[in-house]
Amino acid sequence: MSIGRSLRWVWWVILAFLSTGARSAAPSYAPVTVPMKVQEVAPDVYLVQGLAGAATEHEGFISNAGFVVTDAGVVVLDALGSPSLATRMRELIRTVTDRPVVKVVVTHYHADHIYGLQVYKDEGAQVFAPAEALAYLNGPQAAARLAERRETLKPFVDDRTRLVYPDVLVDRDASFALGGHTFALKPFGPVHSDGDMAMLVQPGGVLFSGDLIFEGRVPFVGDADTRRWVEVLDGLLGGGLEVLVPGHGAASRNAQATLRLTREYLAFLRETMGRAVEEMQPFDEAYAAVDWSRWKDLPAFDSANRRNAYAVYLGLENEAMGR
Ligand SMILES: [Zn+2]
Repeated sequence: MSIGRSLRWVWWVILAFLSTGARSAAPSYAPVTVPMKVQEVAPDVYLVQGLAGAATEHEGFISNAGFVVTDAGVVVLDALGSPSLATRMRELIRTVTDRPVVKVVVTHYHADHIYGLQVYKDEGAQVFAPAEALAYLNGPQAAARLAERRETLKPFVDDRTRLVYPDVLVDRDASFALGGHTFALKPFGPVHSDGDMAMLVQPGGVLFSGDLIFEGRVPFVGDADTRRWVEVLDGLLGGGLEVLVPGHGAASRNAQATLRLTREYLAFLRETMGRAVEEMQPFDEAYAAVDWSRWKDLPAFDSANRRNAYAVYLGLENEAMGR
């Protein structure tokens, strides 16, 4: 009896020692000093809004992340741009709930949204991502970008920062239920990146759109496929949407209006530039002839509009020639 009791005691000491050892072995990343705060956008649905800036400004805190608290654990949306930022975000989640993070949904594999993944992976969370993430991870781009950020975001991104592969690749509309919430995943293929995905959370009607939506400004079109982009936005209108959380910038309570603005802007570019291409009108002449008054007061119009129009003009020329 007393031998049994002392054996049990020895076991407790060993277990206590092991658990302390395990805890102190968890990596401690360089702490960030940039201010981060939690904002509730719907019951149980939270946004941590990145600051406006270029990729390596604000210690890399330039993109949004979100989380949803359910009875069965926390679902995180996007992982921010470093393990340090994700660690800080994890602390913020703990101020709301002590439940574990069980799933992470990634809208797209761009550096500012993924380098914090290892924090949640090490906690045991399951990672969902659009199927195209695999090609990105296995291609040369991923390693090159990580090497660059290890320099430009030192010490927050360093040799311990690793690329985390998704556990679940999403290649068609899918959904899961967790603790009284449903999470609808909508992958769109290549739109803003090689593969983009949005997530709609119910109840609450919160759409995390990733970088498909630019809130309150003229979007940056770049070499995006605007035909696909317009189709995708059409697919998002409706569906019980209440709050829109973009990949960068503030949440919009007027989700339908924000979507419609982006959609109509892109459609306007396609229509006006399409007419010019059809009539084989040179770009400069076509651009000068368009009445831009509906858009010219939007933020970023001066810096983005002409380039957007030109990109669409070239894209439509290619479409017209069947390329
Ligand atoms: Zn982004």
